Amino acid sequence: MKVTFLGTGTSQGIPVIGSTHPVCLSENPKDKRLRVSVLIEWDRYTYVVDCGPDFRQQMLNAQCTRLDGVIFTHEHADHTAGLDDIRPFYFKQGDIPIYAHNRVLKALKERFAYIFETENKYAGAPGVTPIRIENKPFEIGNLTVMPINGMHYKLQVFGFRFRDFAYLTDMKTLKDEEVAKLKGVKVLVVNALRETEHISHFNLEEALALIKKVNPERAYLTHVSHMLGFHDEVEKKLPKNVFLAYDNLQINI
Ligand SMILES: [Zn+2]
Ligand SMILES: [Zn+2]
Repeated sequence: MKVTFLGTGTSQGIPVIGSTHPVCLSENPKDKRLRVSVLIEWDRYTYVVDCGPDFRQQMLNAQCTRLDGVIFTHEHADHTAGLDDIRPFYFKQGDIPIYAHNRVLKALKERFAYIFETENKYAGAPGVTPIRIENKPFEIGNLTVMPINGMHYKLQVFGFRFRDFAYLTDMKTLKDEEVAKLKGVKVLVVNALRETEHISHFNLEEALALIKKVNPERAYLTHVSHMLGFHDEVEKKLPKNVFLAYDNLQINI
């Protein structure tokens, strides 16, 4: 399985528009972060987790030519606002399967009503096959995905385990039984916003505590704010099996 970090930034991305913060002014490409998403490829299958406002650029960067589906963690705009840009895949392949909690599907229907239109639909609009997921395993391609249910302050959010790889973003709290589902993963991705506490996201300390509990071979931090600091400096401070993800990083599991 190959995983490409399409974006590793928090909701505003890095640089933040108009910001003069040193991290936003950094010329290190690893300090430039699009909104979070990962591309997951195995056998002949290609899926993305989330489809934020940078989706078009991310598909171009990854030279992605086929998309078997989009799996959504939750409905926030930084994870969903790029849905219209599945059009090139839709024109070639037909309706694109989208997997999400029923609440998230409802939110997408409100925001992208024209995509879900059944009468007099505009010919240039993309089409989707909505697939409702609950907190139980579901199939994509030839693989079973295990959802990991968490809370993003008061909002339910799904992380996902794909065999030995698990991807969690926008998490703040996870019940023990959900953490138990992560046992034995080789590679764990966890959100880590910044050092100071945040109401709806793990800070660095909370992310590292979860990693310690799960004890994967390797872990990567994502959904990073400019306030966490320069990539190269943060990475020096991390435990030896924990890395700060950056855009376009590829890993094999
Ligand atoms: Zn987010
Ligand atoms: Zn969010």
